[in-house]
Amino acid sequence: MAGCIFCAIAAHEAPAKIVHEDPDVVAFEDVGHRAPLHVLVIPRRHVTSLSEADPDTIGKVGVAAAKIAVDAGYGERGYRVVTNVGPDAGQSVPHLHFHVLAGRSFGWPPG
Ligand code: 5GP
Ligand code: ZN
Repeated sequence: MAGCIFCAIAAHEAPAKIVHEDPDVVAFEDVGHRAPLHVLVIPRRHVTSLSEADPDTIGKVGVAAAKIAVDAGYGERGYRVVTNVGPDAGQSVPHLHFHVLAGRSFGWPPG
């Protein structure tokens, strides 16, 4: 979608440290870097949020998120996968993304 920064990253038109990509999914390091591992996993095709995503897309993004954390060595210690939807949750980029966070302990509930 024109003007969407994550579409631009997926198309290699904007810079990002991409850690995984396939025909459906792209994963790259979050510039905000809130944990030793902080990767965003997105569908290549523009979808605004989890509320608009179809099961196939959610499945592919979710499986990729888990694989990134496990392949990075956090399978036993654990990791967190979060997707923010809408203003109350703090969604700042309107292209579906799963945050994959690992490498430290996380509080619950999130703030
Ligand atoms: P949200 O707040 O929507 O849940 O998460 C958006 C995330 O995208 C934030 O953690 C922010 O740091 C990250 N982000 C925003 N713009 C860019 C960008 O241009 N490149 C990268 N790599 N991350 C971005
Ligand atoms: Zn987009």
